[in-house]
Amino acid sequence: MDHEDFRRCGKDMVDFIADYLTNISERRVTPEVEPGYLRPMLPRNAPEKGESWEDIMKDVERAIMPGITHWQHPRFHAYFPAGNSYPSILAEMLSSGLGIVGFSWAASPACTELEPITLDWLGRMMSLPACFLPFNPAHDNEPEISIANTDCDSQHSGGGALLGSASESILVAMLAARTNKMKSKRLEKPSIEDGQILSKLVCYTSKLAHSCVEKAGLIAMVKVRQLAVDEHYSLRGKTLDECIQADKQKGLIPFFVCGTLGTTSCCSLDNFEELGQICRRENLWFHVDGAYAGAALICNEFQYLIKGFEYVDSFNTNPNKWLLINFDCSCFWVRDKCAVINAMSVDPLYLQHKHAEKATDLRHWGIALSRRFRSLKLWFTIRSYGVEGLQHYIREHCRLAKVFASLINEDDRFEIIGDVVFGLVCFRLKGKNKLTQKLLLCLNDSGQIHVIPSMVNEIFFIRFAICAKDACEYDMHIAFQIIQTHADGILFEYQK
Ligand code: PLP
Repeated sequence: MDHEDFRRCGKDMVDFIADYLTNISERRVTPEVEPGYLRPMLPRNAPEKGESWEDIMKDVERAIMPGITHWQHPRFHAYFPAGNSYPSILAEMLSSGLGIVGFSWAASPACTELEPITLDWLGRMMSLPACFLPFNPAHDNEPEISIANTDCDSQHSGGGALLGSASESILVAMLAARTNKMKSKRLEKPSIEDGQILSKLVCYTSKLAHSCVEKAGLIAMVKVRQLAVDEHYSLRGKTLDECIQADKQKGLIPFFVCGTLGTTSCCSLDNFEELGQICRRENLWFHVDGAYAGAALICNEFQYLIKGFEYVDSFNTNPNKWLLINFDCSCFWVRDKCAVINAMSVDPLYLQHKHAEKATDLRHWGIALSRRFRSLKLWFTIRSYGVEGLQHYIREHCRLAKVFASLINEDDRFEIIGDVVFGLVCFRLKGKNKLTQKLLLCLNDSGQIHVIPSMVNEIFFIRFAICAKDACEYDMHIAFQIIQTHADGILFEYQK
């Protein structure tokens, strides 16, 4: 494919994507294929000679599209939204076209410098505490925060970076906390071996926290306590404190707490103020995972959620869930970037450059060395929508969740589980779990709508997430009609 072919095919591809997204509602939400469907449709070996664009695109329609789950479909209500918007798609295209790898300032200055600027924008949009935000001298009088690799003595050493996923952000936070705690334990007792400390480290989270916290614990080789929640599905200080004290009695070393702002199961909120005070007292790293619901902080009416953030050491939210940015784009802010850099830094000769003293090298912030130019899509999308446009999008999803919840409430065969705060409604058929299990199966088998289950305290329910970018009230009514029709059939069967 030469430059001219690229111009032609690129325009075709833009048309293909625009047609796909315009007409998406004509498709079934979920594919009808079975596992292993694709292999028999494609040749056993790679082609010896290059094939034409037309032939490749024919196979996209023939083999790939039948196996796509349509996350942007108006009837897709599973998981959380997969962020998407035209500015973000175009920025991804530019990023691919530039074809850069931004692991150090020298490897790509614009990639390295745009990232903290966009994180700073978003952090300010969310009114995150100033300790997470690098200074922008053009706009205010706060003390300047250096973002250089080496400036680890500054009191104001917070900042943010873009990572590939919430899982990665939480792992990085845990590794930084682990390094910090091991260092302080070695200072207390220089003869102690790292292995001895490691075997005693414990982190705490709620049993509703995302499984990536447990996975981070597996990778970091530390114990993870998944604690009980209260009647609002919230992890409370008392529960945390009791577990910490019991662990200390056993000679274990608490070091990390992960609270959740919007759990995956039911979008509940932990009590950050209570947890944070305990973390401060016990000298534990306090991370908050707001992978989905963190985006709501850009709206003033959700600012109450930030209560307790004065104790938070690190925070993540994924604009690729609820801020119209394509996967991948996970924002990770930390109060003390040096804790991260100290935990993650290696510095081989071939990566060193003459500006290392003055510049930041984002490779010190994550697991991978190579980094994509992710901030372009954040920058394009924030600029295209403006803060108001993004606030409107969040507010619409929250409003539509309330519309859907009121439809559920009007039908007394159903009940809502938990509070409807964001764009998620959890509901079930009253009575035994098996009714809702059957309903879930029927809904997903029908291909008319896609939803997923959750279970808290032995209560099985369906999660209905508002996902489509342009979701509207009509979509809520259609979804509810589909649900009612299937519920009619199930209840009729069970009453026979
Ligand atoms: N945390 C929460 C609250 C989530 O809902 C999810 C995924 O839905 C994750 C973490 C994991 O996100 P990621 O896929 O970016 O690792």
